[in-house]
Amino acid sequence: MFKKILIANRGEIALRVLRACQEMGIKSVVVYSEADRDAKYVRLADEAVCIGPAPSAQSYLSMPAIISTAEVTDAEAIHPGYGFLSENADFAERVEQSGFSFIGPTPESIRMMGDKVSAKQAMIKAGVPCVPGSEGALPEDPKEIIRIARSIGYPVIIKAAGGGGGRGMRVVHTEAALVNAVQMTKTEAGAAFGNPAVYMEKFLENPRHVEIQVLADTFRNAVWLGERDCSMQRRHQKIIEEAPAPGIPRRVIEKVGDRCAAACKKMGYRGAGTFEFLYENGEFYFIEMNTRVQVEHPVTELVTGIDIVQQQIRIAAGEKLPFTQRQIQMHGHAIECRINAENPYNFLPSPGRITMWHPPGGPGVRVDSHAYTNYFVPPNYDSMIGKVIVHGDTREQALARMRMALNETVVEGIQTNIPLHRELMVDAKFVQGGTSIHYLEGWLASHNR
Ligand code: ADP
Repeated sequence: MFKKILIANRGEIALRVLRACQEMGIKSVVVYSEADRDAKYVRLADEAVCIGPAPSAQSYLSMPAIISTAEVTDAEAIHPGYGFLSENADFAERVEQSGFSFIGPTPESIRMMGDKVSAKQAMIKAGVPCVPGSEGALPEDPKEIIRIARSIGYPVIIKAAGGGGGRGMRVVHTEAALVNAVQMTKTEAGAAFGNPAVYMEKFLENPRHVEIQVLADTFRNAVWLGERDCSMQRRHQKIIEEAPAPGIPRRVIEKVGDRCAAACKKMGYRGAGTFEFLYENGEFYFIEMNTRVQVEHPVTELVTGIDIVQQQIRIAAGEKLPFTQRQIQMHGHAIECRINAENPYNFLPSPGRITMWHPPGGPGVRVDSHAYTNYFVPPNYDSMIGKVIVHGDTREQALARMRMALNETVVEGIQTNIPLHRELMVDAKFVQGGTSIHYLEGWLASHNR
């Protein structure tokens, strides 16, 4: 096992990885920007090194700063967390070329999944169900483009091969708008992602977002750890996640889960990963794979009892998965609410000093957050300041525990989205379960929020 790990991230995930290291008896090095000087995990880590000013480009995205810190502190491995450099294949490559272990997949896997066209082709080959669409990138010839759209059927969605974060997509409802829309998406994709390639998919009108968590070791063992429903989104960003997904027959989930694990074996995938799907009318459609730990990993940890971050570290250190698919047992139901420093209804960020922080507690309640009373939320980064996660024997119990947890939570000095979460936890449709990815936007509009 590694003796020392460098954590190349910030916020709650830096603290999450730090806790995994401490539990495993591994020494930790955290890197931080000038804006994160007072973060809790900076104090808790064995070593902390300031790597630059607040802007991410000069700190958390600076490969030389991070790699040279690993060198001077004698770290053996680097955990990239999520966001920042976590899905940057060049970073993974440079980490390994510099003689460190990258706690994540191989650069080749990251590269393949980072290009959505090659990712989809790999999935088709591995027998993972995909959204019907173009075979690879769209050609230049407008006649060909029109022919492809006709064969798929309108509405279609044009997506950038290099897209991410909900950007680089355009829905097309009529043939008249098609060719122009493809041109515009190409131009935007070229400017935003440095890759003008676009592809076409059937636009699913009212799907749910359901994803499969996988773990794979370097001995070609791969398992899936159940699913998560992440349909509660605003502006394509998730705010509530749960496991299992309400109302989907187990045999349907098991079929797709087994396919995901088989695809990992086929691709020689290593580490933790998530296959993201849209789910509509009883069918799963692959949209993309994330080659890193995800924000919502705790709901899976609570229903499986498996520590995903510790498993990432063990896999990177060359250990075999300690369980087989059959040994993975799901128990109960878990729900996560992301706590963001923002106006709950128009989502404008609300950075600043937290004058009072009182997290909830009690049976089945977990809080992953780096915040504390007097903590200053810097304006430079993502607005998420923590996650409240609950577990119960049933979904009803989990909902009841989340309502109590949100009522107990006190955050003063800044705005948070807790009032929105409180309302959603008693919303009849959400309580019933199985709402689509458009539900929250519709709810906000109909409640004049
Ligand atoms: P990103 O990497 O930018 O998150 P995704 O491919 O994961 O891109 O898609 C993001 C979101 O866009 C999905 O969660 C879904 O809401 C919507 N979307 C993507 N593809 C389709 C599709 N074929 N039909 C309907 N909605 C889609």
